[in-house]
Amino acid sequence: PHKFIRDKTPLSKIKTAQIEFDTNGLPYSSQFDDIYFDYQDGCSQSVQVFIEGNELEKQWLNYEPIKSVENNSANTPAPFVIGETGFGSGLNFFLTLQRFQTFCEHHAPDWDLLFISTEKYPMTLEDFSRALALWPELQPLSQEFLSKYHIDEQQQILEVRLLDGKVNVQIHLQDATAALAKLNPESFAYVDAWFLDGFAPKKNPEMWHQGLFMQLGRLSMPGTTLATFTVAGIVRRGLEKQGFAVTRKKHQQHKSQTLVATYTGHAKAPQVNGYKRRISPDKPQHVTIVGGGLASACAAYSLVKRGIKVNVFCQDEALAQGASANAVGAIYPLLHQQKDEISEFYQAGFAYAVDFYQELLNQGFDYSHGFDGLIEVAYKEALQKRLEVFKNQPVWPETLISVVDSTQSSQLSGIKLDFPGLWIPKAGWVSPPELVRAIFAAAQNLGQCKIKYNTQVQAINKMDNGRFLLATNKGQKQIQTLILCTGADTLQLEIADALPLSVVRGQVSQLQTTALSENLKAVICHKGYLTPALDNKHCIGATFDKNDDDTATRAKDDAYNLNTLTGLLGNIGQWTSEDIQGAKARLRCCTPDHLPVVGAMPDIEQHKRVYQHISKDKNWRFEQHPPVTQGLYVLTGMGARGLCSAPLLAEILACELTNEVYPLSAEQLFQLAPNRFIIRDMIRRQGND
Ligand code: SAM
Repeated sequence: PHKFIRDKTPLSKIKTAQIEFDTNGLPYSSQFDDIYFDYQDGCSQSVQVFIEGNELEKQWLNYEPIKSVENNSANTPAPFVIGETGFGSGLNFFLTLQRFQTFCEHHAPDWDLLFISTEKYPMTLEDFSRALALWPELQPLSQEFLSKYHIDEQQQILEVRLLDGKVNVQIHLQDATAALAKLNPESFAYVDAWFLDGFAPKKNPEMWHQGLFMQLGRLSMPGTTLATFTVAGIVRRGLEKQGFAVTRKKHQQHKSQTLVATYTGHAKAPQVNGYKRRISPDKPQHVTIVGGGLASACAAYSLVKRGIKVNVFCQDEALAQGASANAVGAIYPLLHQQKDEISEFYQAGFAYAVDFYQELLNQGFDYSHGFDGLIEVAYKEALQKRLEVFKNQPVWPETLISVVDSTQSSQLSGIKLDFPGLWIPKAGWVSPPELVRAIFAAAQNLGQCKIKYNTQVQAINKMDNGRFLLATNKGQKQIQTLILCTGADTLQLEIADALPLSVVRGQVSQLQTTALSENLKAVICHKGYLTPALDNKHCIGATFDKNDDDTATRAKDDAYNLNTLTGLLGNIGQWTSEDIQGAKARLRCCTPDHLPVVGAMPDIEQHKRVYQHISKDKNWRFEQHPPVTQGLYVLTGMGARGLCSAPLLAEILACELTNEVYPLSAEQLFQLAPNRFIIRDMIRRQGND
């Protein structure tokens, strides 16, 4: 029996495909000006490209299903999962179904086939019947399907079971990326083979974009295969970026080339409950943010963009007086020689931040900046050896980071450098206080964002009515939804005691430009950094004093900053100590694993109760969201890397508050989740109880 599933969220009404049939009865899309399948021999091409491209029959023979991930008590084997974009006339599907039927007759597998397809413009029943009539050999199967085919305007998914329930086909009647983004691999396992169909990228550029490739990667496991008819560069590069190893396949018969790929990205651990994100019950209409720095600005912008009204409590008389106060800050990703959790997060954060900061400029919200690149100078042998790895076994695209010799690094930076290094062309510097003001101005331009200055939050208590009572220097305030963007001050708030945050003091010194240094274009990173001139001054930094919360500046720190620079790189600007012209010491808010925290505040006592089984069995899992303090969120712990991470973190937070699809995978989100520390701690204690 077939069933129709309806989501609660209303979708725009479905538009059916605009099709013309030619004199041979072949369907043609007048909307996309492209064919559904080849005029000569649609069947054999579909088999070659998709079925043989994925070596489906071989995969089925070797398929070892894990036991159902959906329900840990039942022993149902997980189905073999095929994912497709563009269901169209279903030709790929019926050809697969036909082969699976034969396979079942010979091998009687105890597992089923799940075929998940997406289709933004489904065919009407009439067009469908007409298109399928072209393939008499498929008719026994297609007739059964057609007898169950029915769509209405509001529908989101059509689900049909065939071959006595051995095959389940789900067609998500939506844009491919949006539909895939809604899938939760925990409830159906990961996709084993992809049919990447859809009209040619040139004719249908809206479908073929990075978001789609990201979803394909998110829903794949190592070994997942993929096949597509197009060899377009955007598709090859897009897939590669998401962890697919892509090769071209030649077809003698049709004198054409197609692509096949295998996912070689990282394995995704089966997820235990705590790894899941909290879903907020309702999108809030008003949100209060505590803090007046970069985290607050980005959070305000991301929320206002979604129609939420924002109030900001800033404890100072002006914005950006805490860690965002330095005259100049560098924007660049932390990239290791291997892809790991940290580098992957900063890669994503950097890409998002660069676009966001550029977009502000495009909209006329100006701030001092220079996006002319950054050099990580390899000033010692160990770092020069590391360059070899970046050069010989690159894991990052050259457009992101590449190795340069000392001549190139001097040319690119505009100052004489005697060392090779790593070149990050899209990196640069900004004035953080000006940037914070620009982001708030952009937020106020988009919607309601009120900033209350000189308002210091001293204590926060949850009341019985579910709201928060804030004690401030301006009296008490009751708040329903609260976000802490309080940086190092978060440690003063008892309600955030669950987070293992720490304070690291950093002093940045300003250095007068010299005839040699004024032409510096790129940011220079060594053990510390040197930024290009703004108002005839460079910034050099920074010190790193753990658990020191004194913000008074120290002359010895200025000397340390200058000596580190000249000691490692030589006195490239011929500075003297007289050139130090001011300094600032501020507090960074750090976490034990060097990644920030974003999301709902965990309820630790409830975690201990709900997760007590984790400490005995790491595979233990159940399908609930982790317990949190309702209405309380946090975005902090950005260390010295807020410029790179804040815009993406703010988007994640906004997605959490509005139930939108997150821009990162569930695993990546867990690495940022405020409850990761307590969960890891409980897993670590396994067997020690
Ligand atoms: N796989 C099909 C078959 O076996 O008959 C042929 C697919 S046809 C070449 C491309 C299909 O992609 C069309 O049905 C079209 O409506 C669909 N499509 C186009 N843009 C889409 C999008 N953004 N999301 C999902 N489907 C899309």
